[in-house]
Amino acid sequence: MLKPGVIPSTEPSIRVGIVLPKDRQKKITAFFSNMCDFEMAVDALTFSTCEVPSILFKVENNGISFSIDGKAYEKVHKVVFRPVKKTAHITLDPVISGREFHWRKYISVRVPDKVEISLRGNALLVVNELPLETYLTCVATSEMGAACPSALIEAQTVVARSWMLANVEQKHVDLGIDVCNDDCCQRYQGLNNLTENSKKGAESTRGKVITYNGEICDARYSKSCGGKMETFENLWEDTPLPYMQNKPDMPEGHTVPDLTVEENAKKWIMSTPKAAFCSSHTVPENKLKKYIGACDEEGEYFRWTVEISNGDLSANLRDKLGLEVKDVLDMQIRKRGGSARSLELLIRYLDFEDKEHETLVYKDYDARRVLHPKFLYSSAVTIDKIGSGTIPKRFVYHGAGWGHGAGMCQIGALGMSLKGYTTEAILAHYYPGSKYTKIYK
Ligand SMILES: [Zn+2]
Ligand SMILES: [Zn+2]
Repeated sequence: MLKPGVIPSTEPSIRVGIVLPKDRQKKITAFFSNMCDFEMAVDALTFSTCEVPSILFKVENNGISFSIDGKAYEKVHKVVFRPVKKTAHITLDPVISGREFHWRKYISVRVPDKVEISLRGNALLVVNELPLETYLTCVATSEMGAACPSALIEAQTVVARSWMLANVEQKHVDLGIDVCNDDCCQRYQGLNNLTENSKKGAESTRGKVITYNGEICDARYSKSCGGKMETFENLWEDTPLPYMQNKPDMPEGHTVPDLTVEENAKKWIMSTPKAAFCSSHTVPENKLKKYIGACDEEGEYFRWTVEISNGDLSANLRDKLGLEVKDVLDMQIRKRGGSARSLELLIRYLDFEDKEHETLVYKDYDARRVLHPKFLYSSAVTIDKIGSGTIPKRFVYHGAGWGHGAGMCQIGALGMSLKGYTTEAILAHYYPGSKYTKIYK
C-alpha cells in the first residue's frame, strides 16, 4: 500500500478494491486467461493448477466455498492468484459499476496481475494488486473513453497519478486497499477499455506528476465545472489549496462575473457562455459519447434542467435528513461559491401537523444529495417553484456543470485538447502554479 506523504522514487504497487463488503456480494466467478498462468494459494496452501477455465466462489457457512475439478473446498478465508506469466489476466463477474449512483449496473472486469478473494463479515472483498503504471493505463481510458485526443489522455493520466500518490483521501484504509474501483475514488475497469492510445499516454508520462511547494498535488477533478472552477475550501476543508482557484474555464483574458452574487449566478446558469472550454459550443454534447466512458448515462453536462415533484422531494428530505417533512414550501440558495455551487441552502417545510420549519444545508455534496434522490448533477442551480398557492406542486432546477467543479474539468480538458492545447498547458490551466515534474523512471 502507498504511504501518505511519501514521494516514491520507484514505481509502487497499489491495491484496488474491485468488490467491497458494502456491495454485500456472495458470489463471484473468476475466468482465467489460462489457469496455468497462475499460482493459487488457498489460505496457507500454495499450488499450481491447470485444471479448470473458471471457478465460482460462494460465501456460505462463514467461509468461501468453491470446487476445482470435482474437489470441494469449504470454509476458506482467502484465495490468492499470483501470475507466473506477464500476459496473465482474470475476468471477474459480476462487478458493480456506479456503486453510489442511480445508473449502477453489473459488468465483468478483466484485470491483470494479482487477485485476492477474501471474506469480510459475511461478504466478499476482492482486491486487485498491480503496478501503479499499469493501473493508470486502465484508469485514463475508463474515465474518458478510448477515442480521446492524446493530450487529454496524458493530462488525465498525470492527474490520476498525482491524486493517487498524494494519497490524501484514504477512503478505504480499513479494508487494506488504496482505492476502490469506482467514481468514489477513480473509475477502474481493468483492461476492459485499454487501447494503444491509452498505453502511449501512460508511457509518455511515466513517473510524471504535478507538484506544488515540493509536495504532490491533491489533483482532484470532475466531469464539468460549468464554466468556472470551484475552490478546494468551498468543497472540502477550510484550508485552501493555492492550485485550486475560482478561475474561468476559458482562454486567458476572459472574465466571468462574481457568481457569489445571486443575480449574476442566475444569469450565468441560464446562459451558455461560448468561451468556456467545457461549453456545448466548444464540445458539442452529441459528440461527447465518442469520448466519455461507456458507463455514463447520456445527459447534458454543461447546462441542464431537472424537475422533481413536491412529494418526491419531501420523501427524499425525510430519507436523507431524517426530518418530518410533509410538504416543502420553499428552497433558496443563500450563499454560493465562486462557481455558483451552493454553500448554504435554506429549506422551508411543513411537518405532518402543518407546523412550519426551516433547515439549512451547507456543503455542495449535501445539497446534491438533498435536492434529488438520484444525487443532482451539480448544486450550481436555480430553483423555480411550479403551482399556485402556498404549497408548490413541483420544483424545477436549471443547473450548470456535473460534479464538484474543482481542479481539472474533464470535458473542458477535452475541449482544450480538441483546440490543440498541450498536456502541459492543460495541467497549468486547471492547477495554476503547479509544476509538471518526473519523480521516478
Ligand atoms: Zn472509493
Ligand atoms: Zn469546465
